[in-house]
Amino acid sequence: MDFLHTQLGALQRQLAFVAVDPIDWKTYVQVSSWAVCLFESYLLLRQYPLYSKPAPPPALAEHFSSGDFAKSQAYGRDKAKFALLSGLYGQVLESLQIHYGVYAWAWDAAGRLLAAFGYGPAYEISQSIAFVFILALISTIPNLPLSVYQTFVLEEKHGFNKTTPGLFIADLLKGWALAFAIGAPFLAAFLYVFRWAGDRFVPWLMAFLLAFQLIMVIIYPTVIQPLFNKLSPLPAGELRTRIEALAARLRFPLTHLYEIDGSKRSSHSNAYFFGLPWSKHIVIFDTLIKQSKADEVEAVLAHELGHWYYMHPTKLLCVSQLHIFTILALFPAFLHAPPLLRAFDFPADVAAHPPTIVAFLLFQSILRPIEAVVGVAMNALSRRFEYEADRFACELQTRLGAEEMRDLGERLGRALIALHVKNLSTVWVDWLYSAYHHSHPTLTERLRALEGFKASAGVAAKKEL
Ligand SMILES: [Zn+2]
Repeated sequence: MDFLHTQLGALQRQLAFVAVDPIDWKTYVQVSSWAVCLFESYLLLRQYPLYSKPAPPPALAEHFSSGDFAKSQAYGRDKAKFALLSGLYGQVLESLQIHYGVYAWAWDAAGRLLAAFGYGPAYEISQSIAFVFILALISTIPNLPLSVYQTFVLEEKHGFNKTTPGLFIADLLKGWALAFAIGAPFLAAFLYVFRWAGDRFVPWLMAFLLAFQLIMVIIYPTVIQPLFNKLSPLPAGELRTRIEALAARLRFPLTHLYEIDGSKRSSHSNAYFFGLPWSKHIVIFDTLIKQSKADEVEAVLAHELGHWYYMHPTKLLCVSQLHIFTILALFPAFLHAPPLLRAFDFPADVAAHPPTIVAFLLFQSILRPIEAVVGVAMNALSRRFEYEADRFACELQTRLGAEEMRDLGERLGRALIALHVKNLSTVWVDWLYSAYHHSHPTLTERLRALEGFKASAGVAAKKEL
């Protein structure tokens, strides 16, 4: 532990200038956030002309009727236009808020709110919670009309919307209540760790965040998701039998098998698993069950179990720990930096002893361009894992010596195509757009890779004979 703190101390000395030099952080944040926004707009402009292509890629031609293809192109076009305009709108709002010193104003407003209840500035944690709540409110409300438009105009037009205004409002209120119920105690504990551990907070905060993530893994599907969706045990039948048999052969510790009234039309959350290492639960979306035959759903599950077999969730957790560690290791330099707060219009008395939460949020906005790069790397890693899980499904026949699994790759391909067509997912994708945004390879890329995996799995199976 001492070694860690010596190293962290050395890093802080490198960054000591942050605490003394009057750097124009505000201009830096404005310029860098505009750069990220304009780059994202540029990606949309690269992608946009592809929605005018008259026919799907040759590999997909036989699976798309011309009507379905035209619908998918029109849907993509509308979504891209919406993304471009809402991205620029959000950026203009954020830019104005930074320009007019929204952080300083919100901190002051939180202080006055607390004072109205008889609490002074000594109650930093309470003031921090009020501060974050005020900031969240003023950044969410202007985006509400966009969200209404997206659900009731854009999705409606393309036949995807199943949300009623009542459900929309109920979801919104539930979301807010939940954010407060979980967010407030989380923030209080987070800030308490800082206060308690002082400048040696890095390992303690890491431990706290890891514990929080693990608790959420348990709480999310059992407590939170049921607030929005209904999970019911998958009824007995061919599908259930197939999945239970597959899980048993792979020694996957399956405890519960659920069907969810999803209709959350995301092409990759068609089925997933969760739970602790010794007790796992599988959830399948009702839409997938409706669209695909039992043997195709089984192939999707074989892919999901590939993620489990290769421990992809654990690996992603480790990478995210490394990411969090880097952020926390850099943070102390910004934690005691009056010039940082001064740059964002805070009065001298607040800036002299920066409140932890204020310093942390300002630090986050400084990190934003770096986070965009980290996002690209995380997407690349996630795409690799997708290929690995697809290969796992193709190789099951050899791994298990199961002749009846020889066409799993084909079944998986069919299920992916069906999902894609039903979701009107985009088929022509610009490579740079995809590298930046996509956590999954495109359908064309996956089908091509599946062909390769099937071929090499076939060769391996022959060798074993
Ligand atoms: Zn996957």
